[in-house]
Amino acid sequence: MYKTAKENLAALFQLIAGAQELYVPVKVSGQVNFRAWSEDAEVDLDTLKTVKSPKDVFFPQSEDLYTCKKDGKKLTIEPEALKEQDFVVFGMKACDVKGVEVLDKVFLADPVDSFYAARREHGTIVAMACHEPEETCFCKVFGVDCAEPAADVAVWMAGDALYWNPLTEKGEALTKSVDSLLTQADADAEKKVEEEKASIRAIVEKLPYTNLSLEGWNGDMLNEKFNSELWEELYKPCLACGTCTFVCPTCQCYDIKDYDTGHGIKRYRCWDSCMYSDFTMMAHGNNRTSQMQRFRQRFMHKLVYFPANNDGMYSCVGCGRCVEKCPASLNIVKVIKSFQKQGGDK
Ligand code: SF4
Ligand code: SF4
Repeated sequence: MYKTAKENLAALFQLIAGAQELYVPVKVSGQVNFRAWSEDAEVDLDTLKTVKSPKDVFFPQSEDLYTCKKDGKKLTIEPEALKEQDFVVFGMKACDVKGVEVLDKVFLADPVDSFYAARREHGTIVAMACHEPEETCFCKVFGVDCAEPAADVAVWMAGDALYWNPLTEKGEALTKSVDSLLTQADADAEKKVEEEKASIRAIVEKLPYTNLSLEGWNGDMLNEKFNSELWEELYKPCLACGTCTFVCPTCQCYDIKDYDTGHGIKRYRCWDSCMYSDFTMMAHGNNRTSQMQRFRQRFMHKLVYFPANNDGMYSCVGCGRCVEKCPASLNIVKVIKSFQKQGGDK
């Protein structure tokens, strides 16, 4: 374990950014999201949740895949270059790191998504413990310990210091590259980190959704859940705006489209939402024909289909963004609780 004074943070970012790209939470027009660091960026490490999760560092909201060009009768296809530069994401929270694990299950499974895989290979994650978890957080339900983030480097902010613990080879390499700003932590520093962890966990225990039960999900009772009349009640306020999917660290659906650049056809992909009526639209129409079916799909996927196909891993990490952002106050907590009530309160 190492430490550095908080006042060294700007120098730390400068040092990292001198050698590779650096993404940090930045405030722009009152909204905090992960962006490329620059000297004049308003870095905000105090806001717990960025509006969007940092998943677009690995899975961008929109990215070109290839260009088709026609020269007479000759057709050429030029794939976009894969990520080749190393980069660092500083300040991801434990839930969002777990979100990347969920994305790994999708994009690194055969057939591997080469664009995503290249970014994962070149990215180093510095995860930050959540100094003060908020009421909408329920990561503990999904086995996430926000006091002990597991990434390439784990960091804690406590008092006037940043504590830095490398956990992987990539983390060790990054540590070496910034060691001029770090000092070896002594027993007192270790104690401070343990106190910080205890304080975070004590807050987590008091959060309103921390003891939400997942009994009856995880691939169990699939037909019973799917056919439940509850969905007809639950979905009604849904505006199909897609906000929940766009802020979510685990949602991974995308659409593929073409556009004419004037010099060829560019094929790109962009995030899509299972809440949209034209999602997975095919020539014969859409296989989910009502908003109830689309709404049900989102939650059945996260709580039943995904864990059934991924050794029990849920496709929700309890970040609480959908709890905060849905304009109709619909969210995964409401769904879980409604089913719980139907089965009798536990
Ligand atoms: S559940 Fe809420 S955020 Fe999601 S699409 Fe419906 S209204 Fe929008
Ligand atoms: S479903 Fe909601 S709480 Fe779960 S990971 Fe997505 S945004 Fe976070």
